[in-house]
Amino acid sequence: MNIQNTTLPPQVKIVEVGPRDGLQNEAKPISAIDKIALIEQLSDAGIRYIESGSFVSPKWVPQMATSTEVFQSIKRNEKVTYAALTPNMKGYEAAIAVNADEVAIFAAASESFSQKNINCSIEESIDRFSPIIADAKKRNIKVRGYVSCVVGCPYEGKILPEQVAKVAQKLLAMGCYEISLGDTIGVGTPASVTKMLQAVSAHVPTAQLAVHFHDTYGQALTNIYAALQCGISVIDSAIAGLGGCPYAKGASGNVATEDVVYLLNGLGIKTNIDFEKLLQAGWFISKKLGKPPISKVSTAYLAQQNI
Ligand SMILES: [Zn+2]
Repeated sequence: MNIQNTTLPPQVKIVEVGPRDGLQNEAKPISAIDKIALIEQLSDAGIRYIESGSFVSPKWVPQMATSTEVFQSIKRNEKVTYAALTPNMKGYEAAIAVNADEVAIFAAASESFSQKNINCSIEESIDRFSPIIADAKKRNIKVRGYVSCVVGCPYEGKILPEQVAKVAQKLLAMGCYEISLGDTIGVGTPASVTKMLQAVSAHVPTAQLAVHFHDTYGQALTNIYAALQCGISVIDSAIAGLGGCPYAKGASGNVATEDVVYLLNGLGIKTNIDFEKLLQAGWFISKKLGKPPISKVSTAYLAQQNI
């Protein structure tokens, strides 16, 4: 029987969010030096897109206070895009000052999530980003858009796929070149994820969509497989499964890059990532955090090494 599935993309781009989304939600502070080392190890492993920091008030996110230092000191590989999350104009200006290659903005697909977290409607939150988009256009800097809570919301439960499509479409119309769809609380399953992706794809070209899964309910890899079958070829992930979910205490964080790359390798999908070096990068940062990697693949390889 030929089980080759021709509907899967031949190549996938990994968007590594560990140094930002991941570390931002880790309790133990990581020094700029260690973050720089992590980013350099990731680029050395073949990762070509690294979200390397966020320019936000250190009062809100102490872990990101060193982003300026990180961006200034990383040894850059010209093939790598070093991106920054910029929640407002001030953050955007700081990111530009240290030559971030790209910036990212965000909106929630859930009205109550938006209200409770940033005290404004989804619409207002998106409008606030217009000055960033306008300036980025002038400078030829690409803007990536995140949509959070694309399947479920901690406050209002299920989110309608059409609602996600509306927000994604708005970000695209504003000028975002890629929309990353985030299951922030990790409640999605292939059924709900596929429905959501179908609704969004009706308004935004699949080639401009990325998926961002958290493994809170252990569904991330399965959801990624479902997304691949829908034609998605950009996947966000975090080395060693860094991060957590600030809205569900004790919940696991982003899907681990090691697990995603293992899956893609098994499916014969190209990533151009050196798997051994990727594992090493995960072990490096896990040691710095003083905890084991939240990646079954990484743990299995580590056990083999220690035999
Ligand atoms: Zn995330």
